[in-house]
Amino acid sequence: MTHITIVGSGPSAVHFALSVLKKGHQVVMVDVGESRPDPVSPEQSFNQLKMGLRDPAEYFLGRSFEAVTYPGTPGEYYGFPPNKRYVFLPPPNYHVEADGFSPLASFAQGGLAEAWTGGVYPFNEHEFRDFPIEYSQMQSCYSEVAKRIGISGLQDDLSAFMPMHDHILSPLNLDEHSEDLLQKYERKKSFFRGRLNCVMGRGRLAAISQPWLQRQACSYRGRCLWGCPQDSLYTPSLTLEECKRYESFRYAPGRYASHFRIDQHGRASHLLVDRLDCAGREEWALDKLVLGAGTLSTSRIVLESVRQRDGTILTLTGLMDNQQVLVPFVNLDFLGRAYSDVRYQYHQIAFGLINDDPCDYVHCLLTTLKSALVHPLIHRTPADMRFAIFLFRHLRAALGLVNVNLSDDRRSTNYVTLQNGDMKTDATLTIHYEPGGAHVNKVRQALRRVKSVLWQLNCVVPPGQVHVRPMGAGVHYAGTLPMCRERRPMAVSPNGQSYDFRNVYIVDGSTFPALPAKNITFTLMSNAVRIAQTNF
Ligand SMILES: Cc1cc2nc3c(=O)[nH]c(=O)nc-3n(C[C@H](O)[C@H](O)[C@H](O)COP(=O)(O)OP(=O)(O)OC[C@H]3O[C@@H](n4cnc5c(N)ncnc54)[C@H](O)[C@@H]3O)c2cc1C
Ligand code: SF4
Repeated sequence: MTHITIVGSGPSAVHFALSVLKKGHQVVMVDVGESRPDPVSPEQSFNQLKMGLRDPAEYFLGRSFEAVTYPGTPGEYYGFPPNKRYVFLPPPNYHVEADGFSPLASFAQGGLAEAWTGGVYPFNEHEFRDFPIEYSQMQSCYSEVAKRIGISGLQDDLSAFMPMHDHILSPLNLDEHSEDLLQKYERKKSFFRGRLNCVMGRGRLAAISQPWLQRQACSYRGRCLWGCPQDSLYTPSLTLEECKRYESFRYAPGRYASHFRIDQHGRASHLLVDRLDCAGREEWALDKLVLGAGTLSTSRIVLESVRQRDGTILTLTGLMDNQQVLVPFVNLDFLGRAYSDVRYQYHQIAFGLINDDPCDYVHCLLTTLKSALVHPLIHRTPADMRFAIFLFRHLRAALGLVNVNLSDDRRSTNYVTLQNGDMKTDATLTIHYEPGGAHVNKVRQALRRVKSVLWQLNCVVPPGQVHVRPMGAGVHYAGTLPMCRERRPMAVSPNGQSYDFRNVYIVDGSTFPALPAKNITFTLMSNAVRIAQTNF
């Protein structure tokens, strides 16, 4: 039996942990571990909550209206709801500065995916081209994770680009607007395939359409953004709870891992951990250390460990993220229609734009507007408030948003490093990102194609409303400690073992040597399972 210390409780870490617990190992999980508040009136739908709560403004907008997006605020179409703030609370020891990048980190039980939208898309054999592993090594791991988390979906045109695996449950009921769009695609499929190089189909969602492992099927309460009150939408804290049922598992929240001490044999001998209840610093002796703290935090821990050893400040190059572009649209066939708030809230349709190089596939998630906080949309309408509200009422059921995701690759211009630390405190994590030379063209081309697809669905994009999100907003971070076959510094083996520190394993996105356009988290979880099954 091996004693394994894991940092983090996000999707990568919990699926690694569950796999090694199943194999009989002893696990301690060190985590900052902010925890989520209890759900409010779980049986009520979005509109029932709005009508029934004693103070709905506080629930939806925050005690000091912190979730209000004020007129003139550029960019995003929605803010995070007040009850999700815990996901993004940083501990006092974490300092970050960024240039060309808007980093988001989570220190919550379950990590960033406590606030995710649950899109789960496996990479295909082409998308593993630059990995030192093959799709065939991942296939059973995708199935294993699907069994654990519950995934709904369907075999359709999209499956040619995102392989099927075991344990895919029947899809969720479509909302009327998404159904209309899919039907139009079906009617003109050969045009979409032949002329637009576009395939469309049902999204793969980590939300269950039938009871699954003691969780209830989605009952369409339309509260996904505020956190599913009945856990039909998967979050990693559910797997954390499963880990806690093992006697060989110890969860240690309220602790911030600063760095590991490196002994003269190049092994990690101790983990240096700051107690967040001000009880000082602890030193935990290590047998095997597994870093699953998310790409940015894992990189910081490695950098800080080297700095504490001999003062060396390294630069880890190759940081990646998916460029995301938000394209709002109006479906002309849905003007003046009614909408229902008892629907699944997030994207139920996805489409892909095919390119000559399969790794340049553009991944698009299509969300129709149902229950939501709509004030940011109303105040963007170019009209006075009264007319904007009138207009919005008639447009509402016809509105939707395409979230366009582009692939990224490792470049030496993009890096993380440290600055400004004495040896008693952690140095500041510093991030720098510059888009590649062809980036602007790639974005322009993708946008032109997305607009053509929408036009064929009888949808128009209102002028001036497209939003190119800042890099970092994609929150699919990867690439700083890549896996590769040959031994080299600041890299890991194909099985996640550090080439620099032999008893350190890395199970999050920092080890990905390439970043396809598809949402990364399903592959993070499955890769963590693969590493656990191969090494331990
Ligand atoms: C709004 C939103 C929507 C998203 N939607 C999707 C989606 O639809 N599909 C998809 O694939 N992905 C989505 N993502 C991205 C997804 O959430 C991340 O890819 C995923 O959570 C990364 O997992 P991780 O395990 O690597 O790290 P994280 O989720 O970042 O978890 C890090 C964990 O490590 C702990 N930790 C960090 N540093 C320390 C430290 N020094 N000491 C102790 N503990 C530490 C934290 O407490 C946390 O538990 C979304 C993200 C957001 C924010
Ligand atoms: S619609 Fe969303 S919040 Fe409601 S039950 Fe389904 S997953 Fe949960």
